[in-house]
Amino acid sequence: MENESRVVYFTIGLEDPITKDPLVTPVRNLLCSAHDAFEESTLLELLENSDEKISCPLCNAPITRDTLSVDYELIDFLETHQPIENREIVFHIELNEYMLIEDVPMKQ
Ligand SMILES: [Zn+2]
Repeated sequence: MENESRVVYFTIGLEDPITKDPLVTPVRNLLCSAHDAFEESTLLELLENSDEKISCPLCNAPITRDTLSVDYELIDFLETHQPIENREIVFHIELNEYMLIEDVPMKQ
């Protein structure tokens, strides 16, 4: 399987996909297939103001209070790396950490 190409990292937008505001308290929906983070208050407001079920605008997965998880690691990263010039950062799967796009190690 040596030639099998695989995903080593994925990119994360630093704006809330709904409001386009910068993420301050990023939260993930555990049912989402994508890796995007939302601003916590955006989703809580949606949940509060709707009688119907909410689904993710990106992947259509159901969103509930119970499936939201605040990403404290990302909060830490954002706090220690300001200002970030790009609108995206990277989560490196093998290294299991967030990093700036320019810091991603090149594959041999
Ligand atoms: Zn989603």
